[in-house]
Amino acid sequence: MVDHPGRPRLRADCLTMVTRRTTTQRGLGWHHQQQREALLARHRDGARCWWCGEPMYRDAVRNLDGESLAADHSHARAHGGTRADRLLHGLCNKSRGDGSRDDRRPALTRRCGGHAGNVLEWS
Ligand SMILES: [Zn+2]
Repeated sequence: MVDHPGRPRLRADCLTMVTRRTTTQRGLGWHHQQQREALLARHRDGARCWWCGEPMYRDAVRNLDGESLAADHSHARAHGGTRADRLLHGLCNKSRGDGSRDDRRPALTRRCGGHAGNVLEWS
């Protein structure tokens, strides 16, 4: 690799400034945002959420929790997962937490309309 003195090299922090994302405030950096964008590009509206089993939409207002979809790590970050590989409702992503309750997710238990594991009442 040839270094050119005086020519600034494009650095990761420059890219972060260009994209003006706020995910870094949540401890999720530029790469996570790229993974989320890729997942959203492949997403088909109405596809079921792995956590609650309800349909998911790109348009936040159509989602049951009114939040935009979140990129989730099926191998939870708390256990060393580094790649977001699926979308969940924002609320479902928060409800899942570190993945320790995966076997009790609403899509499996199906109580109270499928949202027994969530922290809010969805009406
Ligand atoms: Zn969900």
